[in-house]
Amino acid sequence: MIIRNGLCALPGLDALERRDIRVEGETIVSIAASIAPSPGETVIDASCLEVFPGAIDPHVHFDEPGFTHREDFHHGTMAAARGGVTTVIDMPCTSLPPVTTAANLREKLAAMGDSGVVDYALFGGVSGHSLAESLDRNMAELAPDVVGFKCYLISGMESFTAVDIPGLGRAIAKASTLGRPLLLHAEDPAVVVPATETMKARSATEGRKASWDDYVDSRPESAEVSAVAAAIASAKGNATSLHVVHVGTAEAARLVAASGATCETAPHYLAFCRDDFSSKGSALKTAPPVKSRGQADLLWQFLASGAILYCASDHAPAPASEKNTGSIWTDYGGIPGTGTLFPYLYAQGYKAGRLTLRAFLRVTGGAAAARFGLSGRKGSIAVGMDADLVLVDPRGEYRVRGSELLSKGNITPFEGMRLSGSILHTLVRGRAVWDAREADKGGNAVAGIVARAGYGKHLRWGYR
Ligand SMILES: [Zn+2]
Repeated sequence: MIIRNGLCALPGLDALERRDIRVEGETIVSIAASIAPSPGETVIDASCLEVFPGAIDPHVHFDEPGFTHREDFHHGTMAAARGGVTTVIDMPCTSLPPVTTAANLREKLAAMGDSGVVDYALFGGVSGHSLAESLDRNMAELAPDVVGFKCYLISGMESFTAVDIPGLGRAIAKASTLGRPLLLHAEDPAVVVPATETMKARSATEGRKASWDDYVDSRPESAEVSAVAAAIASAKGNATSLHVVHVGTAEAARLVAASGATCETAPHYLAFCRDDFSSKGSALKTAPPVKSRGQADLLWQFLASGAILYCASDHAPAPASEKNTGSIWTDYGGIPGTGTLFPYLYAQGYKAGRLTLRAFLRVTGGAAAARFGLSGRKGSIAVGMDADLVLVDPRGEYRVRGSELLSKGNITPFEGMRLSGSILHTLVRGRAVWDAREADKGGNAVAGIVARAGYGKHLRWGYR
């Protein structure tokens, strides 16, 4: 197959370059100004299109098994494919059982079965329970099948409890010896627990219903900063093995960058601030919450400079019955995001001039591929790499509609947002998985998914 005459996002260049790309089987075999097709070879005319490496979303919660009323692997990977994401990395904490032992991992893989339409890797988990049990053995047994480990300093999940700072230090040290990053949800319980009590008491004494301001103030920005500082201290000589997820404050990002650790942010921290709760309500509820006005501009600058390594969605949808419970305290904290990740960064990052082409490629896949041991075949358009490609019509527009995300969850704070550019094709290892023309035909968005369930492949560290 030849993808002919597209404006291609090649590594190390400052601008898109017009090229032909030949794909044989699953792999890119040549890239040149002009490639003559062999007799019978398929040619995709990309003359009016831009060609990007498939995005990597290294932070999704697909909830399988256990919470599949919120999301499952099939819907989650369809939403990813539609949004130009060709590889996801799934979190260990929102399934039952959580992925804290090799036996639990086998159970998860069996439950997922052949359901994914894009490639995927998994994180293992370190919970408070696993610290008490056999931390070292469990992490060592999981390591061959996972590309990192995740833990929380504060957790609302009984099935996946938080670790304390000494426990975190042990987990980072073990992850480091296993050659895997340790991912951390960084909010300081010493700040969040009393702040939550205070905010709950305040609305009660004032005889009013709790407000979204109360929720944001129950998880203040200082909680992230102090958790990150403590985590860096606990890492001792192993800071490069620490990766902080969904950073929302510039101060935390600064501390991370200075320490040699890495961090990610998410589109909702770039697109929204706490003032937006007044119009969006629980559709915007995530944990940690979006931050004060002004943080987003700084996060964009840090993404551009590399101080924040990449952007991930933290995809964690829930049905309306859980998103709108009537109380800001019990409304589910999480939003679908894997489908809007690439379109948002393309329009508001790259096209809007906040990210150079190089930065855009790092943020949407290149850096995550390298951080999680996948860069042998993933994360860039080059000869020998998997043909994971997104074909974008730059003159098109994408209007976000929750009902068309293909996720099980359709409540998104991005609802109605108009983003420049539209994704026409997503290819995973040389095969189309999403084709916008097919979606248009039937009026049924699922019709745009042109890969069979189970096409997606489980990737392990060092995949090549
Ligand atoms: Zn998450």
